[in-house]
Amino acid sequence: MKGKVYLVGAGPGDPELLTVKALRVLQTAEAVLHDDLVAPEILKLIPATAQVHNVGKRCGKKRILQGEINFLMVALANTGLRVVRLKGGDPLIFGRAGEEIESLRAASIPYEIVPGVTSALGSAAAMQIPLTHRRASSALVLLTAHQAADSEAADWSKLAGSGATLVIYMPGKNYADVAAKLKASGVTGETPCALVSRATTAYQRSHLTTVAKLSQAPQLAAPLLLIVGDVVHFADPSTVIQQFMAPHASGTKSARPVAFPDFQSQDEFAKDEESIA
Ligand code: SAH
Repeated sequence: MKGKVYLVGAGPGDPELLTVKALRVLQTAEAVLHDDLVAPEILKLIPATAQVHNVGKRCGKKRILQGEINFLMVALANTGLRVVRLKGGDPLIFGRAGEEIESLRAASIPYEIVPGVTSALGSAAAMQIPLTHRRASSALVLLTAHQAADSEAADWSKLAGSGATLVIYMPGKNYADVAAKLKASGVTGETPCALVSRATTAYQRSHLTTVAKLSQAPQLAAPLLLIVGDVVHFADPSTVIQQFMAPHASGTKSARPVAFPDFQSQDEFAKDEESIA
């Protein structure tokens, strides 16, 4: 008998942002294929009996091709296992779930999708930025600066010209490039923007600036996203640490969630801390 695949969103980092459904599915998994962006605390919830495969495609290390992930997922389900494909944030947002769904359909494997809190929402909450606001923005656009080689690049001018709040996933390291693209699309230099790195984790860092000054912003660690729009005026990152502290079991101390600890060396991490005002 065929097994079943669950495409599950693990949320942006803080393990407490996992949904109740995701938790239930994860705790009954027989095989888990997860990305690098999934917090270690969440991986600890996987039953010891389950087989676990890290299929993350971290830069600089051996790349696992999407086709190989699809193949493994289908093969495991074909042996009758209950498979969880665990992804950072929401599986349907820049998560390649579309390609995985096509493979599952082609192989007639039953599947379900469990949504997660996408990092745009985690970052906005962490920064106290209302992504829409009656007086500032009534639309929200999620886009990426990183494009697959064979895909069509989104026309930013159509997206940016509307005055919508923009959340740019995978902005890359070349902030000057992103700023130039924004300006060419009609976003003014004075428009405020926020870089948010490792949102909702103990390693969260942020930098508030404007599109004109974006190129001088410090390089923050991945995963990183950029929020652009007048709503960024409402940001108050000073409250971040309180918001994402998970209460300690004793109730007296606070333990902060830990995610992405090995994304870069401690030295590089210290550099980040120094450079951020
Ligand atoms: N499916 C994910 C997005 C995957 S693409 C989601 O819904 O969030 C990976 C990109 O997501 C990263 O390059 C970064 O831009 C963003 N991202 C993921 N987690 C993040 C976090 N905790 N803080 C900031 N950006 C994050």
